[in-house]
Amino acid sequence: MIVLGLDGATFTLVDAWVDAGHLPNFARLREESVSGDLESTVPEITVPAWPSFATGRDPTTLDMYGFSHFNRRTRENDLSHDEFVPGKMWDAVDDQGGRSVVFNIPGSYPWQAIDGTIIAAAPEYKEEYSHPPERWDELVDLVDGYKLRNDEEPGTRAYVDASVDLVDKRFEAFEHFIQAEDPDLAVGLIRGTDRIAHHYWGAESVPPASTDNAVFEVYQRVDEHLGEFLDEHDDEDVVVMSDHGFEKVREQFAPNRVLERAGLVTLNESGDSTQAALGSLRDVASDVLGKLGLLTFARKVVPASTVAGLPTGDNLGLDNAISMGRIDWDGTEVVVDQAQKTALVYALADDADEAADACDRARTALADAAADAGIDVRFEDLGRGGDHTPDLAMIVETPEVHVTSRFDVDADLVDVDTSGHARNGILLARGPSFRDGDVEDAHITDIAPTVLHALDYRLPETMTGDVLDVFAPDSEPATRDPETYAFVGEDAITEGGVDGEEQEDEVKDRLRELGYLE
Ligand SMILES: [Zn+2]
Repeated sequence: MIVLGLDGATFTLVDAWVDAGHLPNFARLREESVSGDLESTVPEITVPAWPSFATGRDPTTLDMYGFSHFNRRTRENDLSHDEFVPGKMWDAVDDQGGRSVVFNIPGSYPWQAIDGTIIAAAPEYKEEYSHPPERWDELVDLVDGYKLRNDEEPGTRAYVDASVDLVDKRFEAFEHFIQAEDPDLAVGLIRGTDRIAHHYWGAESVPPASTDNAVFEVYQRVDEHLGEFLDEHDDEDVVVMSDHGFEKVREQFAPNRVLERAGLVTLNESGDSTQAALGSLRDVASDVLGKLGLLTFARKVVPASTVAGLPTGDNLGLDNAISMGRIDWDGTEVVVDQAQKTALVYALADDADEAADACDRARTALADAAADAGIDVRFEDLGRGGDHTPDLAMIVETPEVHVTSRFDVDADLVDVDTSGHARNGILLARGPSFRDGDVEDAHITDIAPTVLHALDYRLPETMTGDVLDVFAPDSEPATRDPETYAFVGEDAITEGGVDGEEQEDEVKDRLRELGYLE
């Protein structure tokens, strides 16, 4: 069983470009597979989507809401980098005597030792990490230099070239480990389809199928590799999927502005004076160099310890507001963290009734403001779980509209010209076990149970996802009922976690550059 992830891949592009005759191998795969939309997690971002994929568990049970996520108790943004995610599908495979290859999956570190190979994914803070460790040198030798991420500057030709090169290297390396290990389960991810769409989508709802469009260029390269990959694994079960979709973004809704007006958020006039002074240095540097070159410049002229605490965005989003001391916590009952199309609503009160009351008022204010702004939203009650789990999620259902955590905008709905995640990713499953036709209502947490069931392994009973109706009627998995069991993972390998505040700030800087923090 092979699961090939294409981060952020969307049928909006695949189908448009298949129909126009440009992606022959996606066309073949669509034809020969059972396929349909794959709904992402709430929220539809890399983490928690990949950890939910790996565990078959809803984010509420993982208490994981981003590479960095708001902590209701400490009122800070924590990094989730060194948080162990228990009960991944490859752990269950290992537990039942199977072997896995896990390649480039975000949130796969820290891992517990499995029979097989794990290669870490960016933006892990480490430059290199593999299990077992000797696999890293094997990987670097194999593809003549391997990188966890594209370090070129987005917007440049060099970035596009590096993206295409990384697509080549990831396919080559994933195939190498599949051949070398002959695993029961292989799970690998091509990240370039997401990153290129963030930076090069352009003005259209569907970018043109033109050779000078970088998004199309990367999809075309993926299509070529997909053809070879499908040929190589013609008689195997192959699942191709993405963690969320993608779309043009023309407007952003600003829930924190709405909450401030409703009296649920109070801002201080000015924040910490040291931060403010650094802020003006930042503005001067920013004017000269633009935001992207700033960090590199700043690291050259001032000590790293000074730069590390410096908010790099110019916007007053939740993370910057917290680090600059701009939130008057005594006068604040609810804050919203942003995650693409989802507003994560945190009530701060410890008392359950107080929190529920504050949430009700936030919901009413947000629903009214959304209606006034002419956008469709739905609310999901997440139930108060761990410190990072929001009480409530507000999901924007109107296409091409996202959420911002910014306080400093002059309308509830502001114009932007960018691109970002959509709720539905892709799912295509092809091979002897799978039927053809459509699959409906598939959710990203359904992949792990479906894969384990196909492999005739029992499912950890912690999984919240379901085995999907994707099997061919005469296939072996179709004749069995899913079996669950109480899976208890061994201790995680946790050494080498994020070390100290300085390193933590560097990780946050990196996340800002990638658009995960504002
Ligand atoms: Zn993305």
